[in-house]
Amino acid sequence: MYEVGHWINGKRVAGSSGRTADVYNPHTGEVQGRVALASKAELDAAVADAARAQVAWGATNPQKRGRVMMALVGLINRDMDKMAEVLSREHGKTIPDAKGDIQRGLEVIEYCIGAPQMLKGEFTDSAGPGIDMYSMRQPLGVVAGITPFNFPAMIPLWKMGPALAAGNAMILKPSERDPSVPLMLAELCKEAGLPDGVLQVVNGDKESVDAILDNPTIQAVGFVGSTPIAHYIYSRAAANGKRSQCFGGAKNHMIIMPDADLDQAADALVGAGYGAAGERCMAISVAVPVGDKTADALIEKLVPRIEKLKVGPYTAGNDVDYGPVVTAAAKANILRLVNRGVEQGAKLVVDGRNFSLQGYENGFFVGPHLFDHVTPDMDIYRTEIFGPVLSTVRAKTYEDALKLAMDHEYGNGTAIFTRDGDTARDFANRVNVGMVGINVPIPVPLAYHTFGGWKKSGFGDLNQHGPDAFRFYTRTKTVTSRWPSGIKEGSAFNFKAMD
Ligand code: NAD
Repeated sequence: MYEVGHWINGKRVAGSSGRTADVYNPHTGEVQGRVALASKAELDAAVADAARAQVAWGATNPQKRGRVMMALVGLINRDMDKMAEVLSREHGKTIPDAKGDIQRGLEVIEYCIGAPQMLKGEFTDSAGPGIDMYSMRQPLGVVAGITPFNFPAMIPLWKMGPALAAGNAMILKPSERDPSVPLMLAELCKEAGLPDGVLQVVNGDKESVDAILDNPTIQAVGFVGSTPIAHYIYSRAAANGKRSQCFGGAKNHMIIMPDADLDQAADALVGAGYGAAGERCMAISVAVPVGDKTADALIEKLVPRIEKLKVGPYTAGNDVDYGPVVTAAAKANILRLVNRGVEQGAKLVVDGRNFSLQGYENGFFVGPHLFDHVTPDMDIYRTEIFGPVLSTVRAKTYEDALKLAMDHEYGNGTAIFTRDGDTARDFANRVNVGMVGINVPIPVPLAYHTFGGWKKSGFGDLNQHGPDAFRFYTRTKTVTSRWPSGIKEGSAFNFKAMD
């Protein structure tokens, strides 16, 4: 049994609130650790220290901040294996997938090495007689990141990289379900040269989140998690005058046109639907074959692939396809929704409900499920299941398939599989979803583009990583300057053109 505290002023510290949460080993179902849950007083003290540390960090030139990012890249690579092991043990994903989680975060840190380029302002020479005008990007001060359980390395790195490189101090509040990796990342930040207090990792639950939302020093909140919490955080942060970007849940559709390469589509669906036990916001959870002939052929190809999936612990080696889900409650919720799908008349083609793994009977493993003949009114279609469950909704035409994706309340990612360029182009242009794949099932943009969903998958204006992240974590100041030799007249009482 281990204890996870907080990272405050460059050190691991124990919590003082007296409140803790259990951290489970999802493979065995046993409690393996306990994480401290911060009180409002602990959170407020961390913020006050961060505000003091931010002054010097914000005044550090951006190339020095970029060099801290460069050192961090080397250190994360050095500790990749160690962190992946801890990540898999708390989260349940396989080691290759845990390394992917770290890698996609690392790529954002690589991008942040270019902070000087991202923070360069704009300049207009001679905007008027003797007048120059320039704008600069300045850090906001203290900002916060609140992150989910399903990417315990990637999403904290997406938050801390741009925020810190831009000169802010950050309060990071990771998920209490797998809290160890964010603390390891904080240690690496210190080793990379980040001054104490600039990154504070405060573990906690609703109490610390509410303290973040109500703390007047915190200027911006970047959140990733489920939609109801995203909406709550967005509303409360906005009511308190904070900038916020809050990314929520998903129900990602993949449309399979009759001309698609069905083997490629089936392989893609299995990886994107069941990888990480379906616990990805970019997982494909709905397959939409166009036409019954396509649907029948697709199901025929999917079933043997799904039945062959190897579900097991990360310790069993690289041929394990996916591991357990994160908690007993997550498992119960997935199975409840599967039962509901059967009750509401969907056809359960692959039934994983009785899956059990010898030696791991108390673990949170869930067998793979495939539904056919799902309709838009069913709970399994409307709800984000966040488990290894793929629903097939048959569409008659391309327009019907497009409409399904358009009408769903979530709009995180979507994909189309086709050989027809016209159809693919039309889909990419018209669909009201933030990230689109063409013959690519999980279209997660790379670090130098931006990541963000539409509709109820994202609240706020700017996306994560890429140029948007630097815009989100900075504010623009515009300066208009004129020196005495440029002053040609006395007082001016009207706005007028500068000529
Ligand atoms: P969650 O909403 O339960 O938790 C996210 C964070 O919010 C955690 O830090 C948690 O401590 C905090 N939180 C939970 N309940 C709270 C409450 N009542 N008040 C204040 N704070 C609270 O999400 P999760 O289960 O950790 O993560 C899975 C969800 O995240 C899925 O819905 C998934 O789609 C979504 N997700 C979205 C993206 C994206 O970019 N859109 C990426 C990854 C995950």
